[in-house]
Amino acid sequence: MEKSVRVAVRVRPLSAKEKAAARPSVVAVAPKEHQVTVRKKTYTFDRVFGQYASQKDVFKGVVQSVVDEALAGFNCTVFAYGQTGTGKTHTIQGKLSPHDENAGIIPRSVNYIFDKLQATKSEYSVRVSFLQLYNEELKDLLGENKKDKPLRLMEDAKRGGVYCQNLEEVTTLTAAHVFELLEIGSKNRITAETLLNEQSSRSHCIFTIRIHSKESNIPGEEMIRSGTLNLVDLAGSECIGRSGARNVRAREAGNINQSLLTLGRVITALVDKHPHVPYRDSKLTRLLQESLGGRAMTTVIATLGPAGDCIDETMSTLDYAHRAKSI
Ligand code: ADP
Ligand code: MG
Repeated sequence: MEKSVRVAVRVRPLSAKEKAAARPSVVAVAPKEHQVTVRKKTYTFDRVFGQYASQKDVFKGVVQSVVDEALAGFNCTVFAYGQTGTGKTHTIQGKLSPHDENAGIIPRSVNYIFDKLQATKSEYSVRVSFLQLYNEELKDLLGENKKDKPLRLMEDAKRGGVYCQNLEEVTTLTAAHVFELLEIGSKNRITAETLLNEQSSRSHCIFTIRIHSKESNIPGEEMIRSGTLNLVDLAGSECIGRSGARNVRAREAGNINQSLLTLGRVITALVDKHPHVPYRDSKLTRLLQESLGGRAMTTVIATLGPAGDCIDETMSTLDYAHRAKSI
């Protein structure tokens, strides 16, 4: 049976600064065995990427099959989870140019989707949206700053599920157009983050592609498919503190990130096949409810830094990621 949650780990190379300080790498990676070892503790994941893994390796290894599911009409989500500075944005977004070797999951998915649609579908339409979630408040990274029209999560009475009222969803027919939108969205994101003036990023960014396609098969029947792909750059995992709610001081300071904490609980409930999944406890999980669990495919890419000075954070990311995986 297909697993509904898959977990991969990616360890970034030592940075120039870490090398200059002669910091040793304390994270041992065995990609063939799908294993990571830290402090003599070995963890096994669905995939493990070491410092030599390219952006292309990550896309081919754990994302392309998810995009295929979205093209086939299913809802899917890919998360990057990890401490600030470990490569979440590099992995999910990377360079936004279509053919740069450092292009991350978003640009590669966009290219892949349009290549497939143009090659195989008789009719298609694609809608994209890009939003940021900070302190349980939603901000549209594509819409004009519509102060009079705040984004709101609403229950869809007719169809069931949740939708985001007033969110700009741009209909597009080409990858080039999506790249223009991404350029705008990522500028808005940088502006927003600068305004918050934060050392570590406490916001989540969610890029969503909705794909509708129509295909006629040989007997002339029409096949209509609609799938969704969410690509999510999560807030830094330091925002839930060491092992979540145990960090009383962080909680008192209001530093506990409700959405990040709830996401962990939702994923654990899905993995354990628990009858109650607490989607409603945060905006992130409400927003993604239809793309988590059930027939939806969820992939978590946990990102790690190799240096010893963040080893506690590294262990806590591995524990979180491993909990999401164990069945
Ligand atoms: P985060 O989004 O988790 O805070 P970033 O993606 O901004 O982290 O990465 C921090 C820095 O490390 C950036 O300069 C980024 O380019 C670099 N980096 C991250 N992952 C890799 C990687 N796999 N290979 C090379 N450089 C990387
Ligand atoms: Mg980032």
